[in-house]
Amino acid sequence: VMASMAHLQKEKLRLQEELLRLQEKLTAQENNELSLSLQLQGQVETLKAKLLEQAQEINRLRSELGGTDAEKHRDLLAAENERLRQEMKACEGELRELRRQQQAPCRDCPHLQENAGLQEQLSQLQREAEETRAKLVELDLEVQQKTNRLAEVELRLKDSLAERAEEEERLSRRLRDSQETIASLKSQPQPIKYIIKTVEVESAKAKQALCEIQSRNQYLQEQVGMQKQVLKEMEQQLQNSQKTEAQLRAQIMMYEAELERAHGQMLEEMQAMEEEKNRAIEEAFSRAQVEMKAVHENLAGVRTNLLTLQPALRTLTHDYNSLKRQVRDFPLLLQETLRSARAEISQAIEEVHSTNRELLRKYRRELQLRKKCHNELVRLKGNIRVFGRVRPITKEDGEGPEAANAVTFDADDDAVLHLLHKGKQVSFELDKVFPPQASQEEVFQEVQALVTSCIDGYNVCIFAYGQTGAGKTYTMEGTAANPGINQRALQLLFSEVRGKAADWDYAITVSAAEIYNEALRDLLGKEPQEKLEIKLCPDGSGQLYVPGLTEFRVQSVEDINKVFEFGHVKRVTECTNLNEHSSRSHALLIVTVRGLDRSTGLRTTGKLNLVDLAGSERVGRSGAEGSRLREAQHINKSLSALGDVIYALRSRQGHVPFRNSKLTYLLQDSLSGDSKTLMMVQVSPAEKNTSETLCSLKFAERVRSVELGPVSRKAELGSWPSHEHLEVPTILLGDSPGSTAPPGRGHASPSPGQLSSRSASIRRKLHTSG
Ligand code: ADP
Ligand code: MG
Repeated sequence: VMASMAHLQKEKLRLQEELLRLQEKLTAQENNELSLSLQLQGQVETLKAKLLEQAQEINRLRSELGGTDAEKHRDLLAAENERLRQEMKACEGELRELRRQQQAPCRDCPHLQENAGLQEQLSQLQREAEETRAKLVELDLEVQQKTNRLAEVELRLKDSLAERAEEEERLSRRLRDSQETIASLKSQPQPIKYIIKTVEVESAKAKQALCEIQSRNQYLQEQVGMQKQVLKEMEQQLQNSQKTEAQLRAQIMMYEAELERAHGQMLEEMQAMEEEKNRAIEEAFSRAQVEMKAVHENLAGVRTNLLTLQPALRTLTHDYNSLKRQVRDFPLLLQETLRSARAEISQAIEEVHSTNRELLRKYRRELQLRKKCHNELVRLKGNIRVFGRVRPITKEDGEGPEAANAVTFDADDDAVLHLLHKGKQVSFELDKVFPPQASQEEVFQEVQALVTSCIDGYNVCIFAYGQTGAGKTYTMEGTAANPGINQRALQLLFSEVRGKAADWDYAITVSAAEIYNEALRDLLGKEPQEKLEIKLCPDGSGQLYVPGLTEFRVQSVEDINKVFEFGHVKRVTECTNLNEHSSRSHALLIVTVRGLDRSTGLRTTGKLNLVDLAGSERVGRSGAEGSRLREAQHINKSLSALGDVIYALRSRQGHVPFRNSKLTYLLQDSLSGDSKTLMMVQVSPAEKNTSETLCSLKFAERVRSVELGPVSRKAELGSWPSHEHLEVPTILLGDSPGSTAPPGRGHASPSPGQLSSRSASIRRKLHTSG
C-alpha cells in the first residue's frame, strides 16, 4: 500500500507539473494577446491624431470659406452629412456584427476596445459634422443677408434709373415744349416783324412790346441753353450711372465667379478629405482585420492547446479519482495493516523486552565483572601509588651554596630521582617523579584517572606530604591563576558528571575539615572550634561518619570557589598566623559523589579525599617545648601512623592500624578495600633542605617498596576463590618496578600464619566496603 501510495503521489506530482506547464503556456499566450492589444491601442492613438488633424484642417478650410455663399453648399454638406450618417450607421451595424461575433469567443478582445475607440471617433466626427452644419446655417444666414442687401442695392439702382428716365422724359418733354414754342415763335416772326414794322411804323408802343418780346425770347433761349446744359449733365449722369451699373455687374460677376471657384475648391477639398478619411478608415479596418485574424489564429492555437490538454486532464481526473478511491479505501487498509503491525510490534516488543531483560542481566553481570577487572587492574598497578614532586628553587631559598640545587633526575626514567646529600648521591625510585618544570596540568593528568574512578563509586585519597615550604599547598590548592589538584578535580568531576547526565543522576557534595593536635574541626561549620567525633554508622554497615560535619552541594566552579573561600576565611579568623598554623595541621577536602543509574536503579557513592598534610619536618629534635612540642608530637604521630597504615595496606597485613591517629581513622574507608591512594611527596631541591628531603624520600620509598612475593600472593589467592583468575597477572607483577627493589631494603615476607589471617581481614574489609 505504501509503495502504491508513493507511486500515486509521484504520478500526482508529475500531473501537477504538467498542469503547471500548461498554465504557463496559457499565461504566455495571454501575454501575447495583451501585447497585441497594446499595439492596436497605439494604432488607434495615431488614427485619432490623424482625425484630429483632419478636423483641424476642416476647421481651417471652413474659416477660409467663411463668407461664401451656400445654399447649395449647405445642401451639399447636408447630403454629405446624410451620406456620412448612413455610412456611420453601416459602420455601426458592422461593428455591432463584429462585436456579436467577438463577444462569445473573446470578451476582453482588444478589438472591442478598438471598435469602441472608432465609434467614439465616429461620434466625434458626427458631433463635428453637426457643428459644421450649425456653422453652415449661420453662413447661410449671412449669405441671405448679403443677397438681401444686394437686392436692395439693385432696387435702389433701378429706382435711380427710373428716376433718371423720368427726369429725361420730363426734360425731353420740356425740350419739346420749348422747341414747339420756338417753332411757334419762329412761325410768328412775319407778323411780328410786320407788327414791328408796323409798330415801327405805327407806334413806339409796339416797339416796346417787341423789345419785351425780344428779351423774353432771349430769356427763353437762355433757358433752352440752360436746359440743354442740364440735359447734358443728366446724360453725363446717366452715362456715369450706367458705367457704375456695369461696374457693379462686373463686380457681381466676379464675386459669383470667385464664389463658384471657392465652392469648387471646397468641394475638391471635401472630396479629398473624404477620400482620406475613407482611406484611413479602410486602413484601420484592414489592419484591425489582420490583427483580428492573428488574434483568431492565436485563439485557435490556444484552443488546440486546450484540446490537447483535455486528454491530460482526463487522465489526471482519472488518476485523481482512482487515488481518491484508494484514499477512501486507505483507512480500512491502514486499520488492517495497523492491526497486523500492532500485533507484530507487540510481539516484537515482547521479544525485545525479553532480550532487554536478558541484556540488562548480562549488563549488570558485565558491570560487576568490569568493576572486578578494574579492581584487579588497579591492584596490579598498585592501589597505592607514590609520586614525587620537586619544586623549583625560589627566592625564599636565599642565595649561595645553601640554595644550590641538590636534586637531579634520570633522563630515561621518570621514576628515578638522585639526591646529593653530604657529598654522596642517593637514588630513589618512586612510581613517578615530577621535576620542577612540571606544570600543575601535567601533574593533574597523572591524577585524573584516580579522580574519575570516584564517579564509579571508588574511594580515593590524595595526600600531599613533605616538609613545610616543599610545595604541598601549591600542589593541592595552587594559585588563583594556576589552580592545583583540588579545583581541577572538582572541575573534572563536573564535566564527567555532565557527560553521563543522560543515564545518571549525580550529586556532588564537599566538606572541609582540619586536624590539629589530633582534634577534628569542621572548616565549613558554624562552630569551627567545636571538636568533631568520628563514629560508626548505627546501621551496622561498619561505615564511619562524622556527625555534624557540614556538607555543601556544589554544581559549578563558582560554588567550589565560594566553599574554598568560606573555609579559608574560617581558618584565617580562627588563627593568628595562618601559614604556621596550616603547616601544623592537616587540611582535608572531602568530595562525595553519589550517583543513581536511572535505567538500572544502581546507586554508587565515591569519596575523594584531598589532604594537604602538616609539615613533615622534625621539630622535636631541636628541643622545642610546650605547645610547639605537643604539635610536633601530634604531627609525628599522625604522619607515622599514616605511613604505617599505608605500609600495612600495601603489604596486605592482617591488622591495619587505622585507629592510631585521627587522620587514618577518619580515612579508614577511603584507604581500605578497593580504594585508591596517591601519596604526592613534595621535596625542596635546595641544598639546605637535603636532610628533610632525604627523610621525605625515605618515607616515600618505605610506603612504596612494600611488595608481596609471588608465593605469598598465590597462597592468598588460593584462600580467596573469587580472585582465582588473577593468577596470570600476579606473575606479571613480578616484573613491576617494585619487585626490583633490593632485598635488603625490602621488608620480609609475612609468615604463612600472618597471611591467612590477613586474607580473612581483607575479605572482611572488602565485604564491609561493599
Ligand atoms: P607547603 O604547603 O608545603 O608549605 P607551599 O605550597 O606553601 O609549601 O610552597 C612554598 C612556596 O614554594 C610557595 O611560595 C609556592 O608558591 C612555591 N612553590 C611550591 N611548589 C612550586 C612549584 N611546583 N612551582 C612554583 N612554585 C612552587
Ligand atoms: Mg602548606
